[in-house]
Amino acid sequence: MIIDCHVHLNNYDKAHPSTLRERVDKLFNAMDEAKVDHAIVLSSYTANADRPHIEELAAEVGGHPRLSLVEGIRWRYDEQRTDLFQMEERIRDGVVKGIKLYPGYDLYAINDPSLESVFRIAAKYDVPVMIHTGDTYSAHAKVRYAHPLLVDDVAVDYPDVRFVACHLGNPWFQDCAEVLYKNDNVYADISGLTLGDFEYEFERYIMQRVRDMIVYMGEPGRQLMYGTDWPLAGMPSYIRFLEQIEVTPEDREHIAWETAAKLFRLEMPMLEEAQAMRLMRSAQRVEGATPQGA
Ligand SMILES: [Zn+2]
Repeated sequence: MIIDCHVHLNNYDKAHPSTLRERVDKLFNAMDEAKVDHAIVLSSYTANADRPHIEELAAEVGGHPRLSLVEGIRWRYDEQRTDLFQMEERIRDGVVKGIKLYPGYDLYAINDPSLESVFRIAAKYDVPVMIHTGDTYSAHAKVRYAHPLLVDDVAVDYPDVRFVACHLGNPWFQDCAEVLYKNDNVYADISGLTLGDFEYEFERYIMQRVRDMIVYMGEPGRQLMYGTDWPLAGMPSYIRFLEQIEVTPEDREHIAWETAAKLFRLEMPMLEEAQAMRLMRSAQRVEGATPQGA
């Protein structure tokens, strides 16, 4: 079983507009190719023609056994701030299984006191708060706000909330390892460590950083989760990266899906249905590939 805990359904290719339905089809095909059973889709810090609002995502894929939704918060980006009352309803109703903060892109620090109301909702419903940490995919973002050390501030102030430092704080891997080592309520995903597919030298560089983090923090299976940041990163390349991380077979299972399943409270029957759907689709694909009359 594999859960990709970090994918997007935004259109990043301005030259080639696509519909949300087309991007969902692409996502399922990418998941099939990489043998990924379930993916967690994160909505953006803004909503526009290229970045679907959480309600649009819920209408398109809500309740699908192979996909879960995490709501990206709009806090400072413009006047269309996230309505926390509506977000709380979506969480209460199980439409949304986590919250995503985009400090750096949406210019605020996560230890800003105004976010207390967000963390209270997360604690009340026991849904994780994912935080973009590290390098930003935009020249307009301010990367200081996205430093992983700030995750320590909120992890200490809100011990009832579980936080996910996305992207291992890249390039502040050591700081991220310290925050993970120190705080039991902090997790991390390994997504977005490359754009497209890993190039050989860069993959070696990143792998060494991940190795160092694991040595420092220990218990990688308890806190690390598999994720890609698809479509910004390619799924098959990322699966190969996961396979190369030197951990015990048990820890690999935890990283590949078990830790995410627990954290986002994804029920086993749903995940089993997701896996059955994937296997059926790949069987159909093999059948479809058989030449006529064979
Ligand atoms: Zn992302």
